[in-house]
Amino acid sequence: MSRGQYINGRWDRRPGEAMASIDPATGERVWAGPAATGEEVAEAVAAARAAFHGWADLERGERVAAMRRYQEALKVRREAIAEALSRETGKALWETTAEVGSMIAKVDASIAAYDERTGEKQAATAFGRAVLRHRPHGVMAVLGPFNFPCHLPNGHIVPALLAGDTVVFKPSEETPLSGELLVEALAAAELPAGVVNLVHGGRETGAALIDQDIDGLLFTGSAQAGRFFRRHFADKPEVILALELGGNNPLVVWDAVDAEAAAALIVQSSFITTGQRCSCARRVILPEGRAGDAVVEALVALTDRLVIGPWNGAQEPFMGPLISARAADAARAAARALGGQAIREAGKVEGLSDAFISPGIIDVGHHETPDEEIFAPIVQLRRAATFDGAISLANHTRYGLSAGLISDDAALWDRFGKRIRAGVANWNRPTTGAAGTAPFGGLGESGNHRPSAYYAADYCAYPVASFEADRVLPTIGEMKGVRG
Ligand code: NAD
Repeated sequence: MSRGQYINGRWDRRPGEAMASIDPATGERVWAGPAATGEEVAEAVAAARAAFHGWADLERGERVAAMRRYQEALKVRREAIAEALSRETGKALWETTAEVGSMIAKVDASIAAYDERTGEKQAATAFGRAVLRHRPHGVMAVLGPFNFPCHLPNGHIVPALLAGDTVVFKPSEETPLSGELLVEALAAAELPAGVVNLVHGGRETGAALIDQDIDGLLFTGSAQAGRFFRRHFADKPEVILALELGGNNPLVVWDAVDAEAAAALIVQSSFITTGQRCSCARRVILPEGRAGDAVVEALVALTDRLVIGPWNGAQEPFMGPLISARAADAARAAARALGGQAIREAGKVEGLSDAFISPGIIDVGHHETPDEEIFAPIVQLRRAATFDGAISLANHTRYGLSAGLISDDAALWDRFGKRIRAGVANWNRPTTGAAGTAPFGGLGESGNHRPSAYYAADYCAYPVASFEADRVLPTIGEMKGVRG
């Protein structure tokens, strides 16, 4: 049962539009409760505003201690959060357990990043010193996506709180329980009232939130929504906007001797999390001829061995369902619209709910396909005659999030690294491999040059450069053009 909204340190259950989350594997209702009313959204922002100066004025150590208490609260709730994540998203338990582990690790990474990227620096000068400090922006709105309902909002919220910002968080409407559990852990850390607030709801609630007096929007979600936010804030440069969006990510396989090893990297890049990672490889580019054919054969053979099933099924699954039957229908239609030859069709899975989808492998030949992200386990295969041709196909996108090269040739990796346009570029590792100790963000339609993860500290605070002297010193001697 829902705890409702969390505003100014209290859970609140005023009647609002009813909403619910559904287990996509079973169709069972996981959570039901009211969406925030417009009044509640305004109250949440007002509470965050009222709490701002008190929180921002604390010593760094006090905010760090609060985040350590949150980290402990997460550890206590590790299993409950993982289970909620699995029930709301259908993701395998091994994945959701790893997600909670990433949240816990993010606290350490964010403390290190705060000090390294936005800490205080001093240099002595003739008059005293030059000091660089960083100040928080104010009230940050955080809108979460459904695919990592806790880890990704956590990646904005922890750096924001460390910097001294206060937060109003709206979880994805698909995963309200997960969002609630994250905020429960923050509440258990006994932050001052108003420092963190939660409002539930869909896009209307998100729209009501961004119309309030906020200082920043920290967003992880679709490129379509990102476009909308860019336009929405075009005349408000004072609002910091951090956009972590989708991609149409390429993976090039070239001169890889072990076709089976290459296939395993493709599967982990394209089908993990049922293709619902922003960094999933959507387009695999292979050499023409036998070398490419061998990789395709190995890819098909491994795909046929993947266990697809519910997170709590008898056999541990590689992948669960998509977030909903509606998403699965849309993905199957998008796969058909690609044309080409379906080597493996993105179909329904016998005996499982309509939210499940079998991985699609589609040879799209040489024809142009829409440069869109299909957020599902569907991979397009393309052939190139030369390595440079493969790189140019890889870059043939308006996005630029992740990219990968699978190859035994270090010289090719060197060339790939110099030419590929992506914020995450991996060599002989899945495109989905990323670390909280590195920045994470993309070019083009994938973001707005404000990468998250380790660099989240940068968008949570602004730099203030100061010249300082302890006393009022005579500076007339430094002035030119003064008579007598
Ligand atoms: P989404 O854009 O549909 O929704 C994300 C959040 O924004 C939700 O809370 C939603 O309610 C809100 N929202 C959406 N449109 C809005 C609008 N017009 N006004 C106000 N609020 C709005 O994204 P999703 O489907 O939940 O998540 C999947 C997408 O997120 C994929 O495109 C994926 O690539 C992307 N993603 C990106 C990253 C990254 O770090 N780059 C990570 C994970 C997911």
